[in-house]
Amino acid sequence: MKQTTEDYYEGKGCRCLAKSQGECACGADWTPKEVYRLRDEIVSLREQLEELNNEYLILYELASEVWPITNRPLSIVLSEREQAEEL
Ligand SMILES: [Zn+2]
Repeated sequence: MKQTTEDYYEGKGCRCLAKSQGECACGADWTPKEVYRLRDEIVSLREQLEELNNEYLILYELASEVWPITNRPLSIVLSEREQAEEL
């Protein structure tokens, strides 16, 4: 679940007028905004990694199929495959 960091600030919702976590007695969230931003970035990077991994698996399958001619440009291999499927 993606955190909403745009309207967050350290000590948001603090009811005891504290200036820092050390002064706060109401249990407000003093997590640095950067931590939330980095958590969001991790979620986004994991999604990108998964996409790349899926692409890699497809390419690996394709490369295994056409081995040992994997040094040929992928675009040519793919267009030949498409032509072969149309026949
Ligand atoms: Zn407080």
